[in-house]
Amino acid sequence: MKLLSSLALFVTLGLSCAVAKDKAPKGNESADKDKASQEVVISGNDTMQFDVKNFEVKAGSKVKVTLKNVGKIPKIAMGHNLVVLKKGITAVAFGQKALGAGANATNALPESLKGDVIAATKLLGPAESDSIEFTAPKEPGSYEYVCTFPGHFALMRGTMTVK
Ligand code: ZN
Repeated sequence: MKLLSSLALFVTLGLSCAVAKDKAPKGNESADKDKASQEVVISGNDTMQFDVKNFEVKAGSKVKVTLKNVGKIPKIAMGHNLVVLKKGITAVAFGQKALGAGANATNALPESLKGDVIAATKLLGPAESDSIEFTAPKEPGSYEYVCTFPGHFALMRGTMTVK
């Protein structure tokens, strides 16, 4: 029975997707497949810390990362985001680049930085949260993530390990 219902779901999704395909944003082609096979919830706080500094994902799997800002200090002084970086881009180097490119409490991530990024949440104020879904890279290894709020990259960073 389970197989049958999954099959039905698959067909339904396939159909609705065929209709919506033309409108689908670029990079979203895989949205009709399985839901995220792994979900990670990470919080950022007023002392510039992510509570999760390492997590593992399976190469090529769907991953959902939710960032919660659990702090109380206003966004203009203590905003947080979570930016997953491509292989070989370090959190520190990217943090400095983001600072130079004008990443701050009001801007979205500058376009000039997006080439280094696998996925990025919005910048969050107190009690806000945002989720990103992406396909884990196929190449195993370490991928760093960072908060680009000015100055936070020194403390707010971690590593996603792809296995
Ligand atoms: Zn931060």
